[in-house]
Amino acid sequence: MPSLYDHALQQFSRAADVMHLDDGLRELLSTTKRDLEVHFPVKMSNGDVQMFTGFRVHHNIARGPAKGGIRYHPAVSLEDTRALAMTMTWKCAVANIPFGGGKGGVICDPKKLSNMELEHLTRRYTTEIENMLGPDRDIPAPDVGTNPQIMAWIMDTYSLHKGYTITGVVTGKPEFIGGSRLRREATALGVKMAVEEAVKILRMKLTGARVVIQGYGNVGSTTALFLQRAGAKIIAVSDSRGGIVNARGLNPQKIAAHKEQSGSVVGFKGASAVTNSEMLELPCDILIPAALENQITAQNAPRIQTKILAEGANAPTTPDADAILRDRRVLVVPDILTNIGGVTVSYFEWVQDTQSLFWDDQEVTTRLRAVMRSAMKEVLAVSKKYKTDMRNAAMILALDRVAQATTIRGIYP
Ligand code: NAD
Repeated sequence: MPSLYDHALQQFSRAADVMHLDDGLRELLSTTKRDLEVHFPVKMSNGDVQMFTGFRVHHNIARGPAKGGIRYHPAVSLEDTRALAMTMTWKCAVANIPFGGGKGGVICDPKKLSNMELEHLTRRYTTEIENMLGPDRDIPAPDVGTNPQIMAWIMDTYSLHKGYTITGVVTGKPEFIGGSRLRREATALGVKMAVEEAVKILRMKLTGARVVIQGYGNVGSTTALFLQRAGAKIIAVSDSRGGIVNARGLNPQKIAAHKEQSGSVVGFKGASAVTNSEMLELPCDILIPAALENQITAQNAPRIQTKILAEGANAPTTPDADAILRDRRVLVVPDILTNIGGVTVSYFEWVQDTQSLFWDDQEVTTRLRAVMRSAMKEVLAVSKKYKTDMRNAAMILALDRVAQATTIRGIYP
């Protein structure tokens, strides 16, 4: 399996080749600008001191401050963090929002930490990476294992050190302290809007379209709900414990209630059990991976039976699988287009914080729809121009915007 960084570089090189990007820019844009690794102590609930390792990476800030989440997970590594920071640069460029790409993380298992330990870890990590942060420098957001409460602690720590309240230093905060309406639902809302545009390309109808969703967390469960409300039929969903299927359609709200009670979608009444790998190969119209990376591989790609693959998750399709799906003419709407709703509403949150003027649901939705539609339109135009697939087209669009910004600014000195 390619590492996330190899994966990101392969996609970068494919687009750079088509564009005939010059060697200097190729080298500059395929590497990160700053990688910070920190080792820091945390006083645990039992009085012991434990050392932790964390990272914060800026890939590129030519178009504006670095933007990207903070991940708390045992498998966090500098290499993955660099890859994810690079992906954030491309996402912000596809969305055409004035941010660059960043990412951070701490190697830890947040489920094994008490609330107090989590707070201590967050405040100390914030202090260690503080020189990288700032509303005009680098604006973190939640990612795997972090949440609005953790963003609140980061904002509070940063503000206390500066001596005044600076809400715009993080996004994905609770609404009480400058969070945006719909930030929690934003990625799923964007996925739904991307799917609405994708069905138009294939002249399909969303009403009655059969949808399979892998992962029933923030993105998967909310996407299921939005798509069902839009008339689609959710026929199968899964989480880490397995999947459920019912060709007549499933009720996302009832599944969410079942998962809330039992901890999993598995065991939901009125559906048959299916494994995660079987589920990915079910005949359907729209397949939405919304769990982990590297789920669609050279092994299962020949058996995938969907018309549209809309990547809610980051990097769910390996480069080998991608080539197979291209040959099989599956319409792949890539991650750096499908899941930009989250970072776009993060940008809206930062704008609202900067202006101290807050928007209602309708304003956020209307503005998000405008961003999704124009990103989709622009990617399709590039795809036509270069006679290439949507993944490559999205990368070319992003790379072109970042390369232009870099070139216009010039190389100092
Ligand atoms: P989450 O932790 O809320 O949910 C992840 C879901 O995936 C859970 O239901 C989990 O049980 C399931 N899962 C884990 N391992 C699995 C496996 N092997 N097979 C099937 N399901 C499995 O995370 P999320 O925020 O919903 O993010 C999901 C994906 O979307 C990630 O790739 C993330 O990077 C990406 N993403 C999230 C956002 C966001 O705003 N949350 C934005 C952009 C991209």
